[in-house]
Amino acid sequence: MNSFLASLRLQKDDPDFLKSQYKALASQIPILYVLLIINVLAVAITHIGTAPVWLSLYVPIGLSVTCLLRLCWWEIHGRDEVTAERAMTLMRITVVAAAVLTCAFGAWAVALYQYGNAYQQGQIAYFLVVTGISSVFCLMHLPLAAALTTVITFGTMIVTFMFSGNPVFVATATSGAFLVVPFLRVINSYYQNFVRLVRLTEELQKKQAEAQELNLVNSRNALHDQLTGLANRRSFFLSLEERLRAGSDAPPVLGIIDLDGFKPVNDVFGHAAGDLVLKETARRFMALIGDDGVVARLGGDEFGIIFPDDLAVSTIADVAHALCSAVREPFEIPDGSVRVSGSCGIVQLASGDHTAEELYEKADFALYQVKSKHNGGVEFFSPEHETILSQRHMIELELQAGNFADELSLEYQPIIELKTGIVVGYEALARWDSARFGRISPAAFIPAAERTALIGRMTRVLLGQALDALSAMPSRLRLSFNLSARDICDHETAMTLLAMIHRSGVDARRIEFEITETALLSDFATADRVVSLFRAAGVTIALDDFGTGYSSLSHVHRLAFDKLKIDKSFVMNLDRDTRCLNITRSVANLCQNLGIASVAEGVESGEVAEGLRAMGVRLAQGYYFSRPLPLSAAIDYAIERDKFAMTQQPLYA
Ligand code: C2E
Ligand code: CA
Ligand code: CA
Repeated sequence: MNSFLASLRLQKDDPDFLKSQYKALASQIPILYVLLIINVLAVAITHIGTAPVWLSLYVPIGLSVTCLLRLCWWEIHGRDEVTAERAMTLMRITVVAAAVLTCAFGAWAVALYQYGNAYQQGQIAYFLVVTGISSVFCLMHLPLAAALTTVITFGTMIVTFMFSGNPVFVATATSGAFLVVPFLRVINSYYQNFVRLVRLTEELQKKQAEAQELNLVNSRNALHDQLTGLANRRSFFLSLEERLRAGSDAPPVLGIIDLDGFKPVNDVFGHAAGDLVLKETARRFMALIGDDGVVARLGGDEFGIIFPDDLAVSTIADVAHALCSAVREPFEIPDGSVRVSGSCGIVQLASGDHTAEELYEKADFALYQVKSKHNGGVEFFSPEHETILSQRHMIELELQAGNFADELSLEYQPIIELKTGIVVGYEALARWDSARFGRISPAAFIPAAERTALIGRMTRVLLGQALDALSAMPSRLRLSFNLSARDICDHETAMTLLAMIHRSGVDARRIEFEITETALLSDFATADRVVSLFRAAGVTIALDDFGTGYSSLSHVHRLAFDKLKIDKSFVMNLDRDTRCLNITRSVANLCQNLGIASVAEGVESGEVAEGLRAMGVRLAQGYYFSRPLPLSAAIDYAIERDKFAMTQQPLYA
């Protein structure tokens, strides 16, 4: 009952619902007027001649014209978009019109009833009931109007027939009386269902809008870097491909910029400071490149640039230098300001068909070249680079096609204890004698194997040979074996290597794995776990090429290395360059303080060997002592050296 009474009121405070209610009502009302006109005319025609002309002709014409006018209005304006206020006003008018018209129809029908015979009176009863039912069904969305028409038409019919004295009409009136309440209930339940439907539709639309919004955010995230708001790697390549498809003679000019010194900022000042530097870098790049080019964050501290098409060829170098200068400007962070620098590799080709990947590879190669010079700046991809790159591709193809396992071997470079001059072990160095290209340097094929993911297989083949060699060597000699980044950043490979050592029966303590700083940086957490595993098995670990990468002292401390290998670039120039001398001395001191051994590689003269010994460096290797040798020659060398060491004191050569 309460819900019924509530449904009679218009829901002023729900504008969306009011509009939906009005829309539903407007679509039904024209049908109601058509039905009313037909019913009125049907009754009027049968009463012409029976009832007075004004009642059987003029009044029905007047009623029909009124209905027709209302019908026209609804047909013309019923589908207009309305505000909630207007919808409410129109529905109020509809309620009044429904009441007035129902009263008018009722009064007209009752007046006619006086003149007709039994059949015609029956027709009046039928007219009232049908008009009532039509009104109820067509006005369902406006319960007050529907209820009013029900009460008025049925009320008129019941009162008129109840007092007719005719038992058939009295019975009809009585049964009609019982219909009023069920009708009102039907109106109420239909309306409640309608309310639920509208609410459900509203909710659905809201959810749909949310889903659309989410889709929008997702597609934005799929193409944008969340931190800087720049295009991401995927979007960068899509833009590049689009420009290549657009097909002018020359491919787009591409630059890759890498920040130098960004990692220490992250390590020392934290990621929030690092993020600020990246965001500000993005802003500076955007300001220089503008909307005609593309600036993207390709990952980490690497940015990709597609230079605007209309940029003159000669000005590209200027813009690239401006980008690097922009990076050199200080960055404000909460702890003060920090400085980094940038290196830029550019590919600018006059013509030719190139894929996006090829262009990227060339720009990346130019970047690698400029970075390896350690002084930042800009480098364009050159014909010389092209030669190196194509050799690189050939090696990659040869590695994939050929049976490299049969062509790989190891050479052994003796490692000398400086104090006594005896050989304590060897470093195993890979050699590849390709049937097609002859001997290829490990500096060329190891990176190629890393790129083509063949390194795991290669390491297993080489370790197999190294273990065989260890079995053949005097048991006091140890062997250092180089591992690549991929070997130590993969738990499974590490387990396989340990299993191989175990199966070979060689004492694991005779083996040392050499790993580089860059290897550590790619996935420190895994490297940490793998190193612990190796050490637990008895294998010692040396940090190779120390001083050339970016690893921090905390890494050295945390990973508990057994040795640091001082890179040959410092050792070789030790007697000519005081900077190299100082670095070597610092590393030697560091090792002494940490209580670990130091190994100097690249010793090419007796002076350097003597200098190293004086600094407290324990072990050394280099061409001065011996080049890398085949196994039997390496063993002979150790035996010879042992004999020599017994007779000469002290001995470095
Ligand atoms: P590395 O581990 O730093 O090895 C030392 C390199 O310096 C070797 O070059 C060696 O021949 C060279 N060398 C030794 N003494 C001297 C010297 O007195 N002067 C000069 N100028 N050079 C000297 P190599 O054999 O060409 O190896 C190059 C690099 O290839 C190695 O550098 C290492 O990073 C990698 N590599 C070699 N063998 C393997 C391997 O089995 N596995 C992996 N993953 N990498 C390897
Ligand atoms: Ca090494
Ligand atoms: Ca080295």
